[in-house]
Amino acid sequence: MEEEKVEAKAEVKETKPATTEKKKYFKHKQQNKKKVCVFCQDKNAVIDYKDGNRLKKFIAEGGKILPSRQTGTCARHQRELTVAIKRARNMAILPFMGE
Ligand SMILES: [Zn+2]
Repeated sequence: MEEEKVEAKAEVKETKPATTEKKKYFKHKQQNKKKVCVFCQDKNAVIDYKDGNRLKKFIAEGGKILPSRQTGTCARHQRELTVAIKRARNMAILPFMGE
């Protein structure tokens, strides 16, 4: 009985490296894509908590705020964005997490 368990564990270990290699490949691919902060590009763009349609682009389907790595937003605007999204949630303009 014990011998069978050891064999099963060894099989799991063998399959794991293949998945990590795939993930690394995808990460490398994303690095080639350069994204510029939308708010830095458009000087007229203002981060407003009442502008739900604009803020929706920066939250995931579950209502989570997307990381700046994914959206390309710079650190300064990402900070303003999180404040605006949190405010919008309290105003019932945007959904909370796990709706
Ligand atoms: Zn910016």
